[in-house]
Formats: sequence, C-alpha cells, structure tokens
Amino acid sequence: MLDLSPADIRLGESFDSRDAAIRAVAQLLHEQGAVQANYSDSMLARERTANTYLGNGVAIPHGRPQEAHLINDTHVVLIQVPAGVPWKDGERAKLIFGIAAKSDEHISLLGRITTITSDEVLAEHLANTNDPQDIIRAISVGAQGNARFSDDNFDGERIIVPFSNPRGFHLRPASQIAEATERMDGDIRLVANGREADARSAMSIVGLGIRAGSDIEIRSDSPFADDHLRQLKRLVEIINDEPQEAVEDEGPSVDWKPADLSHAQVITGTMAAPGIAVGPAFLWSQLSAAPSERKRGDVASERDALKAAIASAEETLRELSEDASMNKVQRNLFEAHATMLSDEILLTEASAQINERVDALQAWNTVLAKKVSQLESLADKHLAQRSIDLKDAGRRVSRILSGAEEVSLASLTTPSILIADDLEPSEAAQLSRSKICGICLREGSPNAHSAIVARSLGIPMVVACGWPLEQVAAEDKVVLDASGARMILHPTEEDVTSANEVIKTLDAQRQRAWTDRFKPAITQDGMRTEVVANIARVAEAEEAVQAGAEGVGLVRTEFLFLDREHAPSEDEQYECYRAMVDALGGLPMVLRTIDIGGDKPVDYLGLSERDLSFLGLRGIRIGLARPDIIKTQLRAVYRAAKHGPIKLLFPMIATSNDFRRIRNIAEAVRKEVDGPRIDLGVMIEVPSAVIMATELAKVADFFSVGTNDLTQYALAVDRTHPLLAKRADSLHPVVLRLIRQAAEAAHAEDKWIGVCGGVAADPLGAQILAGLGVDELSMPPATVPAIKEKLRHGNFHDLQQLAKRALEQEDAVAVRLLPIT
Ligand code: PEP
Ligand code: MG
Repeated sequence: MLDLSPADIRLGESFDSRDAAIRAVAQLLHEQGAVQANYSDSMLARERTANTYLGNGVAIPHGRPQEAHLINDTHVVLIQVPAGVPWKDGERAKLIFGIAAKSDEHISLLGRITTITSDEVLAEHLANTNDPQDIIRAISVGAQGNARFSDDNFDGERIIVPFSNPRGFHLRPASQIAEATERMDGDIRLVANGREADARSAMSIVGLGIRAGSDIEIRSDSPFADDHLRQLKRLVEIINDEPQEAVEDEGPSVDWKPADLSHAQVITGTMAAPGIAVGPAFLWSQLSAAPSERKRGDVASERDALKAAIASAEETLRELSEDASMNKVQRNLFEAHATMLSDEILLTEASAQINERVDALQAWNTVLAKKVSQLESLADKHLAQRSIDLKDAGRRVSRILSGAEEVSLASLTTPSILIADDLEPSEAAQLSRSKICGICLREGSPNAHSAIVARSLGIPMVVACGWPLEQVAAEDKVVLDASGARMILHPTEEDVTSANEVIKTLDAQRQRAWTDRFKPAITQDGMRTEVVANIARVAEAEEAVQAGAEGVGLVRTEFLFLDREHAPSEDEQYECYRAMVDALGGLPMVLRTIDIGGDKPVDYLGLSERDLSFLGLRGIRIGLARPDIIKTQLRAVYRAAKHGPIKLLFPMIATSNDFRRIRNIAEAVRKEVDGPRIDLGVMIEVPSAVIMATELAKVADFFSVGTNDLTQYALAVDRTHPLLAKRADSLHPVVLRLIRQAAEAAHAEDKWIGVCGGVAADPLGAQILAGLGVDELSMPPATVPAIKEKLRHGNFHDLQQLAKRALEQEDAVAVRLLPIT
C-alpha cells in the first residue's frame, strides 16, 4: 500500500505561489529517489490542464501520463503549508500531497485522502500539526475512516460493470461520470470495494479507490434507470478502452515555462481566453470621474432628459453595431444592447416614478436595478447573462444622465495589460488588440460575455484573481500567462524574453492557419472537403472571401425580412443578392429562400403565433401558403443569378411533394424573368426528408443538412429552450446516423451533400462529418481558417474510423469522449 513515512513529510513550509509549491514537492520526490529532476515540468504542465485542488486545503499535484518514464518508483510526499498557498479559483492549499505514480497504485491513496477532504476539522488540524505521525495516522486509517458502506436494501435498478483501465479510476474519468449524470434524474450511485459514492460527485467516486480488476455496481432509482444505467455502463467501457499512451489535452500547443519566479509575484486565476501577453499594467476604472452634481428639473424636463439619454445611448450603440472596424461578436453585442434600451417598458416604468417626483437618474437606476435583479433571480445561466448585458446597457444611460465621461484608451501608446475589477461586455467590445494585449480581472467568469468578446478578439484573459490583483501598480511590467491561468508581476528579463518568444510562436500558428486559409482542405491522404461560409448580409460575403471560404453554403435570406414593417421589395432583394454575388467574385453561393417562423418571426405577414411555431407554417410552407411572398423572392434571385453562380436551397422540405411543388413555382418564375437554370437543393432538416432521401435525391440537385433543426426535430428538443440545451447536441448518434443515411442517398444519385448547421464549425464535428463523406461544410466566416487547417492535418482513413465509432455510440456525451485524431 502506498503510504507516507516521516522522511516524506515537510512541515511548516511557506510559498508565494502554487508553482513554487509544486516545484518543492517535485524536489522532495526527487530527493526521495522517486522521480528524475525534471519531473517538476510534468507536474506543472499537468496543473495547467487540470485542477488538482481537492477541497478543505488539500491538493494533489502529480505529473502527466506521458512523462511516467521520469518516475523511478511510485511514491507520495507531503508538504504542509499552515498559512496556505493560493491554488486555483481563490482556494488555498495547506496540505500538498505530491504524487508520482506509474499507473494506478495511488488510487487507494486517493480514496484515503478524500477522508481528509470531507472532514474540515481534521483537515485544519493536519494543516497545523507539528507531529508528522498525525498525518501518517490519518492517511492509514482513512481506508476505514469515513467510508460509507453500501446499502444492500437499495430499492432501484442496478448493473455491474467490470473496470479494467490500468490507470485506475482517477479524477478525469470520475469527472466524466459526474458530468454525464448531471443530465440524469434520481439518485445515482456507484458501488465498489464495499463502499458507495454519489455519481454526481467526482471526488466521492475517486474516494472509492477503484482499480483495474474491480467490479463497479451502478445504481439508479430513476424511472429512467434502464437508460441511465446503460449510458453509464457504456461510458465506463469507453473509460476502460481509453488509449494508455494518449497525450492529454494540452490546450494551446505551446507552453511557456518561466525560468525563475523567485523574485516575481505570481497571481493565479482562471483562464477565460488562452494565450500569453507581455506589457505594462494599465489600471482601468469603470468611470473616469465621480458623476457631476446633477441638477434636477421639473417632471416634464426630467422625463425629456431620460428620453434623450436613452435615445443618445441607443444611437451610439447602433453606430457601434455598424462600425466596420469591429468584428461580428462586437457588433452583435452592441446591437443587442441597443435593442434592450429600445424596450419601452424601461422608459414607461421610469417615467411613472418621475411622475411621482423622483429625479430621472434615480428613477432610471431603480427600474434598472429591479429588472436586473428579476433576471438574475431566474436560475438560468443564459438569462443571468442577459442581466449583465442589461446592467451594462443601462449604465450607459446613467452615465449620460449623470454627465460622467467615458473612459478612453486613446492615451495608451504601448499595448498594455488591462487590470480591472470586472469588465462590462460593452467595455470589452471596444478594446482593440493594438492597445490592449491582455486582460486580468479580479472578478469575472469564463462564461461572461466579456470573455466571449476577448476570445473573439484573440486577447488573452485571466479572470477571478481575487484580492492579490490590488498589488499591481500602474505601469508595472507583467507577463500574463492566460493559458497557465496566472499573471507574473515583476518577471525577470529572461522570463520576459522567453514569454515574447512563445508569443511569437503562437502568433505564427494562428498566422499559419490564416496564411493557409486559401489552401483547400485536403487531408494528408488526398480527400478534399469544401469549406464555405454561412452569411446573412453583404458585408459577411466580403468577410467570407477574406477568411478563405471557398464560397457561401448558406445565405439566410430571412434576415432581410426581420425587424421591419413590411417585406422588402423585389428590387431591394435583387440589389442585396446581386451585391453578395459581386462580393464573392465568382465563388458559388447557395441562397436559401426565406425561413421565417420558429425563432425568426415577423409581424407584418398577418400570421398567428401558431402559424409561426416550429411545427407551423415555417420555411417553405409559408411560400406554398403565400405564393406572393415566395414569387417576389424567386424573381429577385433569378435576376441576380444572371450575374453569378447562385444555387437555390429550400428550407423545411418534409416530403418529395413539397420539393416538387416549390420547384414548379421556381421554374414558372424563372421563365417569367428569363433567368438561367440553376441548381435547386433540399435542406435536410426534417427527419421525414431523411426517410425520403432516396426519392428526394432523384429530384433535387443537392442536399444541405441543417443540423440545428434536424437535431431539434429528431430528438424532439426545442432548440431555443435553455433547459434542454444539453440535449440538443448535434453530435448525437441519432443525428449522425440520419446524416449518414442522407449522404448515402445523395451519393447513390451522384449528388453532393453539405452540412450548414452549427456542428460543421465544431472541430470534432467537422472531422466526423468529413469522415461520413459530407462533401461541403458551411460555417461562420471566422471559423473557416481553423477548420480548414484541422482537416488538412487529418487523414481521411482515420476520419472514417472516427465517424464509424461515433455512429456506434449511444449518446453525444460518448461521441465527444472519442479521441480526436
Ligand atoms: C439549421 O437548421 O441547421 C440551419 C442551418 O438553419 P437555421 O439555423 O437558420 O434554422
Ligand atoms: Mg434550419
């Protein structure tokens, strides 16, 4: 049994940083003859991709499997740090177990350590004890200590699965189980070695100390126990089969390793956008100055002041949303904020308060706070995000009312690292890489909108650093190692130089994908997949060409019809389609007829809510019910088709009759305007279209799979329902099998098939789809270079194997666990 001896223990140590503590445990392991001197690098690298903090001040740093050859003997050491050392997410480690294990010998030790992590009083005592025997005793009794013995009177379903992974049930597979059970209901437990664990808690699973050769009993009392048990059994089988030599996900492919942090200060946080940056600190405050004393007017003038402030904020936001120098994420954010401010309810409620003689600023702030807290109280994370946006947009109005000035980045001459408590999404959206090369926040979250913006701009970002960030002064030199979730204050010149070299390498990687963006996506063994773009506006056609798209695989024309009082005229549509064709300079463009309905309603067509539902008069059904609308659009399309290679795509085709009817209408219109014959395709997004794919492939010129809707209709999951988001994963084998069926039907008739749903832009999705033989992938322009690069590096034979395995899985979780080639 792996145990501690007094020589393995150091008491009363202190460290400035987590990395220093990890180096010290590696050194102690080395002194004990367990590992080679450079094992510390492996431990530090492991920490970057996994958090080894277990709870109650206990951390278990260890190396990566691919460096197991640096281990001489399996061994464990302990360093006690009574004052604690910052670890991750604001936690402090006080008992640091350094583990060197060649395979699974440490698993039973993990089980014993969890008795400390589940007993706060014991953990605190051990963190301060002067007697190493206290720790040795706690670890050796742990095996019997808090173990929870299984209850044989359990009233539910059970299944037994043999466990055979030689690495044992360590933290990563335990987290996979815990994550998979999140979507399940009822009580789910794992039983092994006479103990049981809550399957939703990775730590309690690790505590079972499961090694290869053990049987695991999985229990569920849910009405869906059969399904849950089968899925979990499958997951354990996948864990059993995981390749032993697999290199763990490294995140960004280049690691920065500082040489000397002894005089530097390391502030740790959570990575929100990967990368690394070097520069002077720029301390950012939310408002540049205290609001000026605001003079209050009479009711009418206060109401006017509020109206004017809202109008001015909205106008600025609309201008920003159209600013061509911003990217799409930035522009969308400003557009969303403008729309929020245009909501009459805010003005109406604030005006009601003004009528009660409350001044405009206070009335606005009160209404805003109320709406924000209403949104916050809705436990749903997407809606909580909207509360942040509303607060952000609302503060813009408050600033105008109070006369406070906007903070400006104009004064910055050197690219700097922005340091702040938090960053509003709209503040993030105004940043540019030429001024801000990194962001480090005391608060924040990787899911916040500001993080999405930072990622879209490629600005490295670390969040949730806590109070230590207060130590940073303006102009301090820092290295922001976002991929390592840390910021180094006062780094040595040598570390600055090495960080700058890593920055150059990462830029070169990004640059390579960008430089090679015009190269076709041909796998190493010669299989080509066309990579094209989804667009909705003319500017995006230009963006697509710039990003290396080989054409446009989907124009969502309905965007021309939304947010207006009446449908666009034939000429307006013609101008728009023609401008897109011109922007594409001869590249092919698949134009989809209007797909109104579902989540894209319009008011002016006189359609009821029922008509516009996902199962109502959506897509082509409106065209068939209201030929006037579709004929106008078709006339505009055929006129534009005289100027470039347009293909037409029809959404929501459910049967071959649907297609024949719309094809006849199209042909009549073509003759009317003397347009060219163009290819007519079927959008495969309704399961019945897949069932009829053989017939459809005979009459259509091509297929384009809309996986967003195919997933929704095949799995009966409303694609807009936040609580069902996890179920709506287009990598579900149900969806993949439907795509395979459609692809086989298309190819049997020598027709091509594309995929234009969101899964085409997912690196794993793109690989599986290419492996299924999909001919074309269509995606947002910004994702084109990276997907092309990914496909170019693959091998078609491997992608086919990957696709084959994906089709055999039982759910999307299992597909996502397949090793990427
Ligand atoms: C789809 O359904 O996958 C698709 C591309 O169309 P939309 O998302 O516009 O419905
Ligand atoms: Mg669709």
